[in-house]
Amino acid sequence: MSVSDCQKIWKAALGELELQMARATFDTWLRDTHCLGVEEGDVLIVGVRNGYAVEWLTHRLYKVIQRTLHRITSKPWQARFVVWENSAVPPATPEALTLPAPSPVATPAPILNPAYTFPEFVVGPSNHLAQAAAQFVAEQPGQLYNPLFIHGGIGLGKTHLLQAIGASSLQAGRRVVYVTAETFTNELVEAIRTKSTGRFREKYRTPDVLLVDDVHFLIGKESTQEELFHTFNALHDAQRQIVLSGDRHPAEMKAVPPRLRSRFAWGLVADVRAPSYATRLAILRAKARRAQASVPDEVLEYIATKYERNVRELEGALNQVLASAKLLRQPLTRQTAAEVLPQARARAMELTPAQVLETVATYYGVTLEDLRGSRRSRQVALPRQVAMYLLREEGKISLPRIGAELGGRDHSTVRYGCRRIQARLDRDDQLRQEIATLKGQLIAQSLPRR
Ligand code: ADP
Ligand code: MG
Repeated sequence: MSVSDCQKIWKAALGELELQMARATFDTWLRDTHCLGVEEGDVLIVGVRNGYAVEWLTHRLYKVIQRTLHRITSKPWQARFVVWENSAVPPATPEALTLPAPSPVATPAPILNPAYTFPEFVVGPSNHLAQAAAQFVAEQPGQLYNPLFIHGGIGLGKTHLLQAIGASSLQAGRRVVYVTAETFTNELVEAIRTKSTGRFREKYRTPDVLLVDDVHFLIGKESTQEELFHTFNALHDAQRQIVLSGDRHPAEMKAVPPRLRSRFAWGLVADVRAPSYATRLAILRAKARRAQASVPDEVLEYIATKYERNVRELEGALNQVLASAKLLRQPLTRQTAAEVLPQARARAMELTPAQVLETVATYYGVTLEDLRGSRRSRQVALPRQVAMYLLREEGKISLPRIGAELGGRDHSTVRYGCRRIQARLDRDDQLRQEIATLKGQLIAQSLPRR
């Protein structure tokens, strides 16, 4: 097969994939990819922009890509992703099979969400202090505000700001480590178990900028608090920048020992609050622009009045409206937005559990037997938990009934699965997109065909 044939396959696959996933996901990870050639054993070599993209495509989006390739070619084509510096320009000589050497992804750069940057962050009275402080420490780390502690409720931009500091510090050539307190804890436990605490310390005590997200997850975990305390001291003494986030002011973290609490508040404590109407509207405009969707003001205004407490929900509502308009080929009006938003739940409920399972299985490229069976590998465990979550949250189906639909599982297993997904939704953007897409597909199915 010639390279140009491969490129046609990949183009066709991209066309299908664009319809199957949220626009942001597609734009971020797939839009600028190019087929560079073909390898022995029916493997397409696909050039992507950077190491993050290789990671995501290989680990998170692979199923759907593979499934799409199979459908298009009716053959078990695979894809291998490599970093291709000029990914904007496809290779000029279509018949030559010269592949670029995959650039080594040597120093594992932190996986930061490419959307979480300063230019993408909308500033308003509810967050301007936190934003200004974040920008300052990104420019002059370890100087004035060390540590910077950002606190506030769920979905108000804490992770966005931490990662924006990370992205701009990386650009300035600094060494950055971004970690959630939960991962920090898990890695520490693992390091202790495998007697590799030396390497753990090397990782966390040497960067120029250490970003620790959601420190409220440390509450009550003594060994982790102890380790963070020493990490903190080592970095602070060396004038390296530390940035922390949490769900409340450090003074209110009663379960954290006072010496750590006081260190959290040593530098600057800034909060992020629920945005005003004007800021919500500005955020929606920015998100619509990023999604390259032109959305009439009346629709944005409608959403801004309905979602007040949480930027993530605000964004989710916009995505929901955009997805439905696209899937149902409806015009974007205040009327259609109003129809989509409150009724989404009711409509999904009209589906039977079997239809929900079918949709989830197809989406993740697993079988119904996989979902109902006992295999615990990641490839089936995640879709199974997503199915539990959707049946519970959207379908309002009882835990025992969900257990029965999933091959006779215990209700506590189902509860655990739902909670895990819920917890991950908070920090796993990809999963959020996947669930939004699935919800969109469920809504579309439950509507009468036009
Ligand atoms: P938190 O970490 O506080 O729970 P996130 O940083 O994950 O919240 O923000 C949730 C979502 O809302 C993200 O997609 C983020 O980009 C968006 N967001 C929050 N605040 C803003 C803002 N001021 N401007 C633009 N997007 C925002
Ligand atoms: Mg967060």
